Amino acid sequence: MPKIYIIDVTNRDGVQTPRICLAKLQKTMINMFLNEMGIYQSELGFPFTNHEVNYINANLELAEMGALQPIVLSGWCRAVISDIEKSITLTRIKHLSLSISVSDIMIKGKFEGRKNRQDILHMAAESLDYARDHGLTKLGMNAEDASRADINYLIEFAGVAKEHGAERLRYCDTLGYDDPFTIYERIKKVAQAVKIDIETHCHNDLGMAVACSVGGALGAVDAGVNAYINTCVNGVGERAGNADLVSTILAVRKASGLDHRNLLDERVDLSKAWQIGKYAAYAFDLPISINQVAIGDNAFTHESGIHADGVLKDAHNYELYDFRELGRGNPEIVETGRKITTGEYSGIRGFRNVYNKLEVEFKDEQEATEILELVRYANIHTQKALTDSELRFIAQYPAIARKILTVSPPSDSK
Ligand SMILES: [Zn+2]
Repeated sequence: MPKIYIIDVTNRDGVQTPRICLAKLQKTMINMFLNEMGIYQSELGFPFTNHEVNYINANLELAEMGALQPIVLSGWCRAVISDIEKSITLTRIKHLSLSISVSDIMIKGKFEGRKNRQDILHMAAESLDYARDHGLTKLGMNAEDASRADINYLIEFAGVAKEHGAERLRYCDTLGYDDPFTIYERIKKVAQAVKIDIETHCHNDLGMAVACSVGGALGAVDAGVNAYINTCVNGVGERAGNADLVSTILAVRKASGLDHRNLLDERVDLSKAWQIGKYAAYAFDLPISINQVAIGDNAFTHESGIHADGVLKDAHNYELYDFRELGRGNPEIVETGRKITTGEYSGIRGFRNVYNKLEVEFKDEQEATEILELVRYANIHTQKALTDSELRFIAQYPAIARKILTVSPPSDSK
């Protein structure tokens, strides 16, 4: 029975977006939270980019240690051999998504006449062969601008991808052009013709990213293959954003045509929704809008007479799902009196006070001093007050934290 899985791309599409930045420690925390949430895969970054190298290798080490398991960690690069070569030289990445444009408008516009449809097929085949020959697995072939591509050519492209070892085809609605019905039909056609698992990658330019993701995934499932939906935490991503992680999960689990079909990967744990949404908002420096699906302030707030009366009689009158399912409902303690924090200029006493409150103990003075030094650097690195989860992470994985915090330009301009 085909299923729907989630591949979160916050740490790739999310952070390549203007005005959205995550420090490497924050990207790591997002991976940790996604893993706790039971998300199938995190596209964690660009392994051919020098400043990502320590972060990516450190996260792969966390995976090897079992601290970042079972989530699949994959990188993104162009379907060109030089990108793949650099990725596997610089990092220990084992899974990649390879991207190339497939619409005539992009083939013409981006390559300015130097490439035609056949050349694109050749590049896809060649890059997949190279990646497989170098031991990479779980390869995804990304069809950029698939929604504007000729459907017969897209089927041909998917066939080549499958033949050369791609596990999945990523159908990119790069411009947010599809609607839920067109994407359903197009993906179903490709999946029926080629029998390859399909990823949806939908943008929100028409406000339909989640709807299109669900529509596209159903097209794949109805054709008998697995679907993988690309999401971003809080719906960030290029321009109007990508499909929001929590909304997508809710849509697949709760929508009227889907709530009885049990299509979503059972490991997905919605009770982490509140935690990851809040953390990302803090890390991005972007407040959650009051009407954000599931985690906005108004998502479970009622005032008008009929609504308040109805929900007080029975919550099901005006709420589609329970706030407790999302990990909401626990009071948050905000210190309104004296508070000691720890950061870039802290000393050992204040640092110890903070960690005592987190109930984290150190075996001796030397360990405490080492963690303090890392905390100072972490604060310089994120440029904002460290969260409890970040402080705990640094104390638990100091060697990994040290690597993640080491972001230094290469000594020459190579
Ligand atoms: Zn995108």
